Formats: sequence, C-alpha cells, structure tokens
Amino acid sequence: MAGEAQADCLFCKIIAGEVPATVVRETDTTYAFRDINPQAPTHVLVIPKVHYADAATLAAAEPQITADLLREAGEVAAEEKLESYRLVFNTGSGAGQTVFHAHAHILGGRGMQWPPG
Ligand code: IMP
Repeated sequence: MAGEAQADCLFCKIIAGEVPATVVRETDTTYAFRDINPQAPTHVLVIPKVHYADAATLAAAEPQITADLLREAGEVAAEEKLESYRLVFNTGSGAGQTVFHAHAHILGGRGMQWPPG
C-alpha cells in the first residue's frame, strides 16, 4: 500500500537499518545517505521515510513531506559546501530510475553538462 514500507524495497530496508548506508542527515520524515556508486565528488540521495514509487506520486499524496525533502536537499548541499549542484529525480525506467522509492539525487563538486545524457 502506498506510504507503507515495502518488504522488497531497498530504500525501505536502508531506512529500517537492514541494509547499511552512510547516513548524512535524518529528520522525522526524511533520510539522506551517500550514493553507493557516486557520479560526482558529492552524490547524496534524499528519500522520504514513507514509501512512494517516485517523486510525483509522493508529491500528490504527501505535499508536506515533499517540501521537507526539498528543504533537506538544500541542507545537505549547504553542509557539503556545494556552491552549485544538480538536484535530480529520475522518474521511470526510461529516465534511468532503478529504485522505485522516491529519491532526490544531489550531485555536486564538479562541472555539469546540459543537456544531461
Ligand atoms: P535511480 O537510478 O535514479 O533510481 O537511483 C538509484 C540510486 O541508488 C543509484 O544512483 C544507485 O547507485 C543507488 N544505490 C543503489 N543501491 C544503493 C545502496 O545500497 N546504497 C546507496 N545507494 C544505492
């Protein structure tokens, strides 16, 4: 059911402490940890503690938690001393989404190209 932890979800397991992660920040509603396969010198994921498949589904159901997640992305960027950074929500497998628990990528510490690949 939307919002409830899913037994087969990797990020729900990270929140539950069943899969180890390098945690950067935690709030009542969000969790931030380092990406296991970083694509930039700083690559942190911020996720809601509730399970929704992607950012748009989360936003439709939980606007306050979505706002919490965006604020936390800014807090992470500030703590990581990123002057500029890219905030990415891959949505759907065609866009590169591989984990179907909503998450923001915070990528920084190097120059970025546009358009992205
Ligand atoms: P997506 O491809 O946008 O769904 O992003 C999923 C991200 O999760 C990828 O950047 C992966 O490298 C990352 N990832 C997968 N497994 C783990 C893990 O166990 N810990 C931290 N990050 C992970």
